[in-house]
Amino acid sequence: MHDPAKVVIIGAGIVGCSTAYYLTQMGWRDICVLDQGPLFQNWGSTSHAPGLMFQHNNSKTICRLATWSVELYSQVAPKDSPAFFQVGSLEIAHTKERWEELKRKLGNAKAWGLAADLIGPQEIKSMIPIMRTDDLFGAFFVPSDCDVKAASICEALAKEAQERGANFHAHTPVTSIEIKNGRVQAVLTGRGNIRTENIVCAAGIWGPLIGRMAGVPIPLTPMQHLYAKTVPVKELMGETEEMRHPIVRYQDKDLYFRQHRDAYGFGSYRHEPLPVDAEALPHNDHPAIFPFTPEHFEESWRDAVERFPCLHGVELAEKFNGLFSFTPDANSILGQTREVAGFWVAEAVWVTHGGGVGRALAEWMVEGTPSLDLREMDINRFHPYAFSPSYIKSRANRQYIEVYDIIHPLQQMESPRNLRLSPFHSRLETLGAVFLENAGWERPQWFLSNEALPGQPDWPKRTGWTARYWSPIIGAEHQATRTGVALYDLTPFTKLEVSGPRSLELIQFL
Ligand SMILES: Cc1cc2nc3c(=O)[nH]c(=O)nc-3n(C[C@H](O)[C@H](O)[C@H](O)COP(=O)(O)OP(=O)(O)OC[C@H]3O[C@@H](n4cnc5c(N)ncnc54)[C@H](O)[C@@H]3O)c2cc1C
Repeated sequence: MHDPAKVVIIGAGIVGCSTAYYLTQMGWRDICVLDQGPLFQNWGSTSHAPGLMFQHNNSKTICRLATWSVELYSQVAPKDSPAFFQVGSLEIAHTKERWEELKRKLGNAKAWGLAADLIGPQEIKSMIPIMRTDDLFGAFFVPSDCDVKAASICEALAKEAQERGANFHAHTPVTSIEIKNGRVQAVLTGRGNIRTENIVCAAGIWGPLIGRMAGVPIPLTPMQHLYAKTVPVKELMGETEEMRHPIVRYQDKDLYFRQHRDAYGFGSYRHEPLPVDAEALPHNDHPAIFPFTPEHFEESWRDAVERFPCLHGVELAEKFNGLFSFTPDANSILGQTREVAGFWVAEAVWVTHGGGVGRALAEWMVEGTPSLDLREMDINRFHPYAFSPSYIKSRANRQYIEVYDIIHPLQQMESPRNLRLSPFHSRLETLGAVFLENAGWERPQWFLSNEALPGQPDWPKRTGWTARYWSPIIGAEHQATRTGVALYDLTPFTKLEVSGPRSLELIQFL
């Protein structure tokens, strides 16, 4: 074993490999990557993912992480055995609501600098002749989206990292972490100990178990997700390319599709969430694969055949429930923990963002700050209530259900609610407060009792999407505050107490 190490990365999935790649590229040496299982067809999620990469995201940062990943994977993908397929993507609209959502996505894409377009049914048909398109409004098309063989990408990343001084160890389970005075000291493994000041927890669905070794809660839930692949389809016989068709999202039915040469694969989110406790993960050679549950697949299969009529009567060659991580707010969990110096986390990351996350984390570790604002993914964003097992599971379940839903930016979670209430809560309720949740707090956004306050006739009217979770009363309340007197309950606002030498100077500076 390599001892001591500058950094020990736990997990050789896409996240561990890309982090090792970038740390060594930025000049750090003695990087040790440990995995409890084999390299690089790992026991984790990476080797089971069909590898679809849709870069668009409502968050500019998350979109950028995906774009970085596409750039990286295209550079490192082996040429002799292709692992990177830039076939583009289609998000199809079967409903008017989805079509409106895709128009909003196009707006985002333009703002984020991601080339994209809306196309009609005929153009979709020309790209995927076997898809039924006559009942579609159109599709959101991103030409640079792609699909990857993630395990091959891991191997390629690791090869370059190894050439620059990283070393990878298979079948080396981390069993404990030594911490002294709030700092990482060493990693204990089944094959010896490694002294180090820095650990990266890139253990995927096992993240909470590694976190526990360091005394750091990592709020994620491993979730079962159904994927199936057909036997060869008659209409695709003789296909010479691994992929020619764009990858497809059919969100109105919670489905996605990809071509596997002369067969088709599809994944479904159209079933009740199937969470698994990290403690209950099996100790075998396929711990991230659970038995296929046909009862959760029947409806999706019918929808898949309706969209791809050539699948009618076709057998499924592979079918499984694969596991990957869901968090309370659907975002990844990144960064150095508040509790333990030197304990870094890169968890709940899709293949789509794995390359970008490795780069951002390496920047953060080496330079002190990442070049992207990662606050929406920062591990320290969670308040204590978010670590209760029931909260984590309930929110992760919801994220699974909503993964393809049309979500308004102000749409509120329905449960759990009323987690943090101000002492004035019941008085606010009596005044007809309409509450939005923020950091667990119930915060009034407007009061129905203020309905009679005068607004201005020339204020722009809102309808439809823009009028959701909004009321003209908000404007009237603002105006009344400016011209009269208003009382606000600021209980939910964060208060910072700054004390110690030169604290006044610091505050003046701020
Ligand atoms: C069916 C399915 C379909 C998916 N489809 C897509 C898709 O199309 N696009 C997409 O972007 N994402 C997809 N995903 C999600 C994606 O696969 C994961 O989010 C991603 O691979 C996670 O990568 P990772 O490196 O964090 O974790 P993993 O790949 O799980 O790697 C973690 C590693 O940590 C190791 N480890 C754990 N504990 C220890 C320990 N104590 N000591 C040493 N090593 C340890 C494990 O052995 C494992 O190899 C899919 C997932 C599944 C299951």
